[in-house]
Amino acid sequence: MEKETNLIVGAGLSGAVAANILAENGEKVLVIDRKDHIAGNVYDYKDENNIHIHKYGPHIFHTRIKEVWDYLSKFTQWNYFFLKPNVIIEGKPVSLPFSLATIYELFSPAMAERLENKLVEKYGYNVKVSILELKNNDDKDLKFLAEYVYENVFKNYTMKQWDAKPEDIDFSITARVPVQINHDMRYFDDKYQGIPLRGYTAMVKKMFDHRNIEVKLKTEASEYLKKDWKRVFYTGAIDEYFNYKYGELPYRSLRFDVQTRDVEYYQRTVVTNYPNNYDFTRITEHKYFLNEKSDKTVISIEYPQKFVNGQNERYYPIVGTENEALYKKYLADAEKLDNVYFFGRLGDYKYYNMDLAVDRALKLMKNILK
Ligand code: UDP
Repeated sequence: MEKETNLIVGAGLSGAVAANILAENGEKVLVIDRKDHIAGNVYDYKDENNIHIHKYGPHIFHTRIKEVWDYLSKFTQWNYFFLKPNVIIEGKPVSLPFSLATIYELFSPAMAERLENKLVEKYGYNVKVSILELKNNDDKDLKFLAEYVYENVFKNYTMKQWDAKPEDIDFSITARVPVQINHDMRYFDDKYQGIPLRGYTAMVKKMFDHRNIEVKLKTEASEYLKKDWKRVFYTGAIDEYFNYKYGELPYRSLRFDVQTRDVEYYQRTVVTNYPNNYDFTRITEHKYFLNEKSDKTVISIEYPQKFVNGQNERYYPIVGTENEALYKKYLADAEKLDNVYFFGRLGDYKYYNMDLAVDRALKLMKNILK
C-alpha cells in the first residue's frame, strides 16, 4: 500500500499545499505530524470568548503573487486586513513601520518638516530604506534620525529577538522592516493582504479535506520514513531527517504568555512592539484579526528564546551566517535522495513568509507533476 502512497511529514501550510495538489491529481496521500493539531505554526483556535488565538504568534497573510492568493482563496474567504502596528518609543505608542507619519508623531512640526525634506531630497518620496543603509549618512539631521531609529526601534528589539546586534545578523532580516519615506502606515504594501475569515486552521483543514488524504496527528516520522513510499515530502527540520549527522541547525524560538483581560480592548492596535523595555518583544491582541466582539480580550506577550531541541519549538532559522554552510551540507545529501523532497521553513532552512512557503510548495509540485 505504501508504494502507491505519498508520505508528507508536517501538516503545516507547506505540507497542506503538497497534499492538496497530489490528491487533486488523483494520488493517495498520508500526512503525519507530531503536533496534536494541523496547520503547523499558522494554527489558530477559538477560545472560550470566541476569539481566534494565533497560538504561534501573529500571522497576517500578505502577498504580491496572484497565483498564491488565488490558490488559497479556493479554501477561504478573507477578512481584508492591513497590519498597522505600534511601537513604544519613550513610553508612547507610535506608528510602525517608521515612516514620515511616525516622524510627525514624535517630533515638533518644524523638526519633522526638516527631516521630511531632507529624507525626500536624499532618497526620494515613497522610497524604503533599511535602517543599516540609513545609518550610512553624513548629513547631521539624517544621522541623528538614523541613530534615533536604530536606538529606539531596532537595537534592543533585535538583541531580544536574535541575541545579536542588527549589524551582526543577516541584512535581509532588519530590511524586512524598512524606514518608509511616505505616510503609509501599513507594515506590508503587498497587493493582497488578509486574514482567513474563519481562521488559518479552517483554511488548512479545507486543504486536507479530500478523500485521497489521510492525516495522522501526534505521529513521529521515524518509523514511517523507514517504509517504501511513492514519494516523501518532508517539511520538518532537514537536520533532524539526517539525524543531525553534521550537527544541529540553530533556530530562535518563542514563548507566549497568553492572558485574558477583563476589558474590551487592551491596546489600540493588533500588535504593539516594545523594543526598549521588558524582556518581551511584542504584545498581540487577538480579537483585532477578525474583528471579533467580546467584553473580554486576549493578549499574548511574546518572549524570544534560544531553540533547545526537545524543549521548545523551532520558529526562526538563523539565516545568513555560517549556519548556511551547515545547511548546504544537508542539502547536498538531500539532493542525492530519490523521491524525497524538502521544503517549508524547516525543510529549506529559510525565513519564509507564509506566501513564499506556499509559492515554493506550488512550484515544487508543478515541477514534480509536470
Ligand atoms: N525589528 C526591530 N524592531 C521592530 C520590528 C522589527 O528591530 O520593532 C527587526 C528585528 O530584528 C526583527 C526583524 O526586524 O526580527 C523582522 O521583523 P518582523 O516584524 O518582520 O519579524 P516577524 O514578524 O517575522 O517576527
